[in-house]
Amino acid sequence: MTNNNTYDYAVIGAGIVGLSTALHLQKQNVSVVVLEKEKEPGLHQSGRNSGVIHSGIYYKPNSSKSELSIRGRNLLIEYLKKKDINYRQEGKIVVDNDLNKLENLLDRSIELDMDGVKIVRDDELLSIEPSSVMLKGLFVPQAGVVDYKEVVQAYAKDFIEMGGEIKYIEEIKEIENINGLKSIKGNKDTYNCEFLINCAGLFSDEIAKLDNMSPNVKIIPFRGEYYKISNTKNKILNNMIYPLADPDLPFLGIHLTKTANGDIEAGPNAVLAFSKEGYKWTDINFVDLTKVVTFPGMLKLGKKYFRTGISEMYRSLNKNIFVKEIQKLINGVDLRDIKQIPSGVRAQAVDKDGNLVDDFLFEEGENSLHVLNSPSPAATASLAIGESIVSKILN
Ligand SMILES: Cc1cc2nc3c(=O)[nH]c(=O)nc-3n(C[C@H](O)[C@H](O)[C@H](O)COP(=O)(O)OP(=O)(O)OC[C@H]3O[C@@H](n4cnc5c(N)ncnc54)[C@H](O)[C@@H]3O)c2cc1C
Repeated sequence: MTNNNTYDYAVIGAGIVGLSTALHLQKQNVSVVVLEKEKEPGLHQSGRNSGVIHSGIYYKPNSSKSELSIRGRNLLIEYLKKKDINYRQEGKIVVDNDLNKLENLLDRSIELDMDGVKIVRDDELLSIEPSSVMLKGLFVPQAGVVDYKEVVQAYAKDFIEMGGEIKYIEEIKEIENINGLKSIKGNKDTYNCEFLINCAGLFSDEIAKLDNMSPNVKIIPFRGEYYKISNTKNKILNNMIYPLADPDLPFLGIHLTKTANGDIEAGPNAVLAFSKEGYKWTDINFVDLTKVVTFPGMLKLGKKYFRTGISEMYRSLNKNIFVKEIQKLINGVDLRDIKQIPSGVRAQAVDKDGNLVDDFLFEEGENSLHVLNSPSPAATASLAIGESIVSKILN
C-alpha cells in the first residue's frame, strides 16, 4: 500500500484466477491488494470442483483455452513439485463406443504434440481400469488430480509472503473513476488503485456493470453435483474414466475420478442453480433468478437444450438415475455405495444468442480488465491465465 488505501493494482476475488493474477503482479515490484467477500480464499468454484489437472486435449488448437491450459498444466505441475503439494499424474481413459470419435481425439493430441496418448481396447484397457464397462477408449497420460483448495491456499500464502495484501470479508459494492484512479467501495472500506482486475467468478458480470461496462454476456450459474463411492469400493478405479464429451456441451456427462486423497467421486451433473451460489436446490435468490430468466440469451439457451436440461434435473432429483449413469462407466457400484457430497456451481458465460461461451473471455474497461468467462479448465490453467493477464496489462 502507498497511502490512504491506495495501491497500484486491485484484484477482486480470491479464487484461483484472482490469486494467480495477484501473484504474477506482485513479482513486478508494485503494490497489490486482493479484495474478497468471504473469510478465506477459494470458497467458491476454486474450492468446489473435480480436482482434475486437465490434459488440454479437448480444446481447439490455437484457442486461448488450449494454449493456456497446456502451458498452465506444465506450470502447475512445476509449482506442485516445488511446494510439495500432493498430486498424482497417472492419466485418464476417455471411453466411447465410436472408435472414429476416439481416433479424431487422438489426431487432436498429435496436433497438440501430446506424447503417449493412445487408443486402448479390451484387455489393454482393462489392464488400466479393470472395472470399466466400456472396452474402447483413449488413454491420456497427461491428466492428473490435485486438491485445488490446497493450491489456492498456497498461492495466497506466497502472495502475502511477497508483500501482497488480501482484505477478506470485503464485498465490493461500488466502483467509481475519480481523478484518474479507481475508487472501489466495499462493505467495510474504500480502496483506490491505478488499475483494477475483476476475477469475481460467478459475480464477474455484476462487477463489470459496477465499472460502467455493458458486457455482452451473462454469467449463468450451473450447479454440478457429486456422489462419493464408498471407501470399501476404492479398488474399482485406479485413476479416471471420462465419457467422450459433446463438443457443444463440454461440461455434460459425469466422470469418475480417484481424487488426490484416494476417494472415488462421480459427477458433476449440470443443473441450473436458482442462485449465483446455489449449492442446493433450496438455495433460491429471487433477484439472481429474475435476472437469469429475463436475460434474452437464457430463453434461447432453454429452447435449444430443453430436453437436456430436464433430464439433468431429473437425474439430480433421483439417485437411482445417477447410479445408472455411474453403472454405464463402471461395474460393481450400486445404490447403497453412493453418498451425496458438496456440490460446486460453475460460472458459465452465455451470450445474448443463447450460446455457451466456450473460450476464456477477457474484456477491457477504463483502467480495468474483466475476466468474464473462466470455466474449466481454469483451475488447471490458473498460473498461465494470471501470467497472460499481467502481460496484457503491462503491454
Ligand atoms: C463443479 C465444477 C467442477 C470443476 N472441475 C474442474 C477441474 O476438475 N479442473 C479444472 O481445471 N477446473 C475445474 N473447474 C473450473 C474451475 O474450478 C474454475 O474455472 C476456477 O475455479 C475459476 O476460478 P475463479 O478464481 O475465476 O473463480 P472463483 O473461485 O469462483 O473465485 C471468485 C471469487 O470472487 C469472490 N467475489 C465474488 N463477488 C465478489 C465481490 N462483490 N466482492 C469481493 N469478492 C467477490 C468470490 O467470493 C470468490 O472467492 C470446475 C468448476 C466447477 C464449478
